[in-house]
Amino acid sequence: MESQPTMLPPFETCTYTDFSDPDHAAAFEQALAKMRAQLGRTYPLVIAGEEIALETTFASINPSNLDEVIGHFADGTVEHGEAALQAAWDAFPDWAGRTPEDRAGVLMRAAALMRAERHLFSAAMVLEVGKTWPEADADTAEAIDFLEFYAREGVRWAKPQETTEYPGETNVVRYVPLGAGVAIPPWNFPVAIAAGMATAPIAAGNTMVLKPAEQSPLTSWLVFDLLRRAGLPKGVLNFVTCSDGAVVGGHLVQHPRTRFISFTGSKAVGCWIFEEAGKVRPGQIWLKRVVAEMGGKDAVLVDRDANLEAAADGIVRGAFGFQGQKCSAGSRALIHADVYDEIVPLIVAKARAVTVGSPEVNGQGMGPVIEQEALDRVLRYIDYGKEEGTLLVGGEAAPGNGHFVQATVFGDCAPDSRVASEEIFGPILALVKVADYAAGVSVFNGTEYGLTGAYFGIENIERAKRELFCGNLYINRKCTGALVDVQPFGGFNMSGTDAKAGGREHLLQFLQGKSICERLLI
Ligand code: NAD
Repeated sequence: MESQPTMLPPFETCTYTDFSDPDHAAAFEQALAKMRAQLGRTYPLVIAGEEIALETTFASINPSNLDEVIGHFADGTVEHGEAALQAAWDAFPDWAGRTPEDRAGVLMRAAALMRAERHLFSAAMVLEVGKTWPEADADTAEAIDFLEFYAREGVRWAKPQETTEYPGETNVVRYVPLGAGVAIPPWNFPVAIAAGMATAPIAAGNTMVLKPAEQSPLTSWLVFDLLRRAGLPKGVLNFVTCSDGAVVGGHLVQHPRTRFISFTGSKAVGCWIFEEAGKVRPGQIWLKRVVAEMGGKDAVLVDRDANLEAAADGIVRGAFGFQGQKCSAGSRALIHADVYDEIVPLIVAKARAVTVGSPEVNGQGMGPVIEQEALDRVLRYIDYGKEEGTLLVGGEAAPGNGHFVQATVFGDCAPDSRVASEEIFGPILALVKVADYAAGVSVFNGTEYGLTGAYFGIENIERAKRELFCGNLYINRKCTGALVDVQPFGGFNMSGTDAKAGGREHLLQFLQGKSICERLLI
């Protein structure tokens, strides 16, 4: 295939692990035990390859067991952010000057190591952020895919790009890296997004500061350490944790020597970063590039001729996978009035069957939400939902020494009710009855976001493809679970810059085109 580097076989996505197989289940139990044995350690910052232990640390806590400390992490400061950015600039000339194949080799080695240790990464996510086994496994699989895919993409984009021929000249466009930037990932895909955000710019020849989310520093550490073990040279990626992301993250966003910012997280922080990055500060000699991938209020539209069993299944899985804590979660179901009464009992039965408890148990439906603040927010929206709609399922916190809350469904919600229009980022599904397909489209699009969405039905498939406004649209399947280079991922409007992570234009965000014209001496 022309788009693939010749030295590497064509990219293929990882398959998921089948945990109903006793051998796989036993291997995962072992990984959990091995990871648990490593809990409670203290982790340094790493700047220019030097580990820096700090007196001041913050703890990462298991959201399923609030007495369990996952690890203690250095509470980095603005000065550490400065040093890390300087280290990234120091490492830049050498890294940018290496062959793209050399850079790809590091990513490929990291992918191979992660494949070999796959369940350990997943086990860390079970413990640190409360992912169930299959959710954690899919996260690790996506990380491996990012490493493999961006390795190939780095080589592809480094090739001279064709231009139109012109007499007496040779003309070519070469893409060159930008410089030193910062990656600011969220906690909810702590392996996949951290790995993807750190390595896309690196594959393109840039250097980075990785500022992990404060809720998932262990998993970010594992990603950083993996790249280090894979042979990433000192200073190409610098690891700076801090207890308040705004301290180091905010400083680097505003820093005149930050060349680019790759952010994934909430709309509020993304908008702040976009605005601050737009200000040119003394000494700054470029306009910063900003990738800002933000939230969603994703909807599933069910038409009157939909397969209702499949639609109910897609709705429930899309709403409650990882406790609804996915930017792609389908938290609104917009249902044609003709089939509303028929599908609601199916949705209710499936949502009731979603168990909640320790994600360490194989087959658990949902684990905890990430932190107390998240639990408080979900319970607040449950109160709103009780005023705004009809409580059909759940509606309460669930027992356990963690942030557990039931899968919750509200029926008869108005399109503009808070539960049906605001991003909650928890296990709450709002059902909205719509008069017909056209009314469904208008509710679907009546949001400031535009990340993912799904259409279940037959008659209006082609219209839905044209009319539903979002970055990732799925027809007759759930709206979560995008695969690298199969469904490149990114949203419209307030869902962000649509940088299409895991897509073939993604590396362009971290490259600049140099057009070279050579007059032939004849
Ligand atoms: P968040 O915005 O609170 O935090 C994201 C990151 O920003 C963290 O690393 C945090 O430390 C850092 N941060 C916070 N304040 C900062 C500041 N002032 N300057 C610089 N950095 C700062 O988001 P979150 O709670 O970690 O993640 C959940 C959100 O992420 C949801 O809205 C979800 O929809 C969104 N998300 C989007 C995508 C996507 O691809 N569009 C993917 C995953 C999550």
